Amino acid sequence: MTVRTRFAPSPTGYMHIGGMRTAFFAWLFARHMHGKFILRIDDTDEARNMSEALGPILQAFRWLGLDWDEGPEVGGDYGPYYQSQRGDLYKAAAEKLIESGQAYHDFSTPAEIAADRAEADKAKRPYINIRRSLDLSAAERAQYLAEGRPWVLRFLVPRGETLALDDLIRGHVEWDTSLLPDPVIVRANGGPLYNFATVVDDAQLKITHVIRAEEHLSNTPIQVLLHRALGNVMPTFAHVPYVAAPGSKEKLSKRKIAEYRKNPKFKMLFERADEVFPKLGLEATPERSPVTVEYYEKIGYLPAGVLNALGRLGWSLDEKTEIMSLAEMIQNFTLERVVKAPAGFDPDKLFSFQSHWMKELPLEQKIDGCIPYLVAAKLIAEPIAPESRQFISQVITAFGDRLKLFSDIIDTEYFFRDEFPIDEKMFQKRVCKEGIPALLREFAQRLAVIDSFTLESLETALQAFAAENGVGQGDLIHALRLSTTGTPVGPGVYECLVLLGREKSLQRIEAALQRAANA
Ligand code: GLU
Repeated sequence: MTVRTRFAPSPTGYMHIGGMRTAFFAWLFARHMHGKFILRIDDTDEARNMSEALGPILQAFRWLGLDWDEGPEVGGDYGPYYQSQRGDLYKAAAEKLIESGQAYHDFSTPAEIAADRAEADKAKRPYINIRRSLDLSAAERAQYLAEGRPWVLRFLVPRGETLALDDLIRGHVEWDTSLLPDPVIVRANGGPLYNFATVVDDAQLKITHVIRAEEHLSNTPIQVLLHRALGNVMPTFAHVPYVAAPGSKEKLSKRKIAEYRKNPKFKMLFERADEVFPKLGLEATPERSPVTVEYYEKIGYLPAGVLNALGRLGWSLDEKTEIMSLAEMIQNFTLERVVKAPAGFDPDKLFSFQSHWMKELPLEQKIDGCIPYLVAAKLIAEPIAPESRQFISQVITAFGDRLKLFSDIIDTEYFFRDEFPIDEKMFQKRVCKEGIPALLREFAQRLAVIDSFTLESLETALQAFAAENGVGQGDLIHALRLSTTGTPVGPGVYECLVLLGREKSLQRIEAALQRAANA
């Protein structure tokens, strides 16, 4: 048997981190089993622009490098892969159920249903629909239909049965079918409802393992019964627990963004986006917030960092392994090790995975990753000349492990333009301090004449100068750094000076001295 798993997103215009984790587990399982992973688009009740609604979802898969064997763009033997284009299949399946007496037209009016519900409430028992239309004769039914009476098609649940299922994650689950109302499977306009469409599709797509969010566990008994009624091969089910918001037990949700902005574990991510996205010409929208995959792509995470974090959301190889490559996850993934409890999303952990994978990344790939950010922030322009690439390479090397995200590179804008932000508070403290401007001026004169302008010569010159003047090297280093880069953080000061070159360094020191004089 070839394993076939699927992910069936409704096109919503964004890819939720929790949804991506579920999709990733289904993908990992397929890859581990040398099976197929299928993308099916559940677009039955979507009246939205498909490319806007589906685009970010497909992009999330592409960016993470999670390919699909069948689905949009790639096609496949069981297509079309959009539910909106599979109407004939639903129609045929509905007819089959009607013919075998397992589905019926229900002509109950909204008033009748409301009364049924009120009665159930009064008697304090769960509402189960009244099967009043079941008693209609064939002739009556035909007449009602001819009259154009409103109807829905309901599946006739076989009541009085204990339905058992072994879920690969949840374990053994049982349902009493007497408690299940007959679900509507087709609306009067012919539109299929979720449970029905899913069952028809999962069967026709020959899905062997339905791996999906646990919120669908409650839909599973109806789906199992529908599969049985249609004579389908029963898939195996695995319901993946939800992803909880950082430091909480509640499900991570796009609707709670205002709250997350104040969540100490999430706050930094929002703030960084507020700072960085505008510089890249992007808006920090809810669809591009830390609950979506797009946020991590746009702010410059590596797929390897995000995948490592997603893989560890409720799944582990053993007690201690944290860092895992995609290949290692494919090799080791099993559903048995998926934890039943909700998995807490931890931005700090994600960041530590990211830091690890960024450190591992070869320099050339770092350059390729940083260039789009420098271009978007208008710090460089395309096409990139070889000298320019070389300079970027030196900046990245000097920046070293401080580069955690590709967008961090725009913090080094002082290397790329002469107008750069100055940290006023630190400038006051480091440059305007008593005695410092005079020292800086004198040291600048020395910088103007030293033979070579290298890391070694600069260090030697500074040490000698500090000793001669009886001042701490630190004072001079801080003042130089603030003068030439405007910030107290970044690459080592000698690296900064070498990258800027003698002329620019001296100009900036001069400008800083003027600024200090006017302060
Ligand atoms: N379109 C459904 C959803 O997004 C799919 C559920 C399923 O996997 O069966 O929740």
